Amino acid sequence: MTASVPAPAPVLVLATHNKGKLRELRELLRGQVPGLDVDTQVVDAAAVGAPDVAETGVTFAENSLLKARAVARATGLVAIADDSGLAVDVLGGAPGIFSARWAGRHGDDAANLRLLLDQLADVPDEYRGAAFVCAAALAVPGSAQGQGREVVEYGQLEGTLLREPRGAGGFGYDPVLQPTGLDRSCAELSPGEKNAISHRGHAFRALLPAIVEALAGR
Ligand code: IMP
Repeated sequence: MTASVPAPAPVLVLATHNKGKLRELRELLRGQVPGLDVDTQVVDAAAVGAPDVAETGVTFAENSLLKARAVARATGLVAIADDSGLAVDVLGGAPGIFSARWAGRHGDDAANLRLLLDQLADVPDEYRGAAFVCAAALAVPGSAQGQGREVVEYGQLEGTLLREPRGAGGFGYDPVLQPTGLDRSCAELSPGEKNAISHRGHAFRALLPAIVEALAGR
C-alpha cells in the first residue's frame, strides 16, 4: 500500500466565490514563486472558511482593502481581493462601485445593462467613453508585534459604449463595452483575449511583485 502525500497547505487566499477569478490568479502566479503549488496553495474564500465581507467602502480601493484585510485577519494567510465596475464618462464615473446593483437588485446583469443603455440613449457616439476599472488589494497578516502589510494596485480597460448588446461571452456589461482599438465588444472576445487587456488582469499583474515578495517571506 502506498501512503498518500497530503496536499501542501494553502498560503494565499483570494477573497471571492468566483471560480473564474481564482483560475485567472492561479495562471498569473504559475511558476512565479519557487516551491508554490498554485493549484493547491492558492485557494478561494470557501476553501478556508473565510467570511463574506460587506462592501461598505465608497471606492474600489476601499472595498478591495476591506475584503483582503478581513480575510487575512480571519485566516492568518496572505489575502488578495478585488473590486471592480464600469465608469462612464458622461455619468461622472457612475455606475462605479454601484455597477452590480445599478438597476436596484444586486447581480441582475440584464437589468443593469438595459437601464444604462436607456439612460444613454440620447448621448452621441463621441461622448460614449467608458472604462472597466479594478482595484486589487493584498493584505499580509500582522505578526504579534506589529501591523501587516497592505498594497493596492489598479487596472483599467478603456472603450466606448455600444448602443445595443453584442456577443454571448463574458458577464455584466461586457456586451456593451467595445475596447479602444477593437471592433468587437468584450462579450465577443475569447477569455484569453479579455484577460490580456482587462482591468482585472492589469491590476493583478501590477500586484504580482508584492504577492511574490509576501509569499517568499513566509
Ligand atoms: P465585482 O467587482 O466582481 O463585484 O464586479 C462588480 C460589477 O461590475 C459586476 O457585477 C459587473 O456588473 C461589473 N463588472 C466588473 N468587471 C466586469 C467585467 O469584466 N465585465 C463586465 N462587467 C464587469
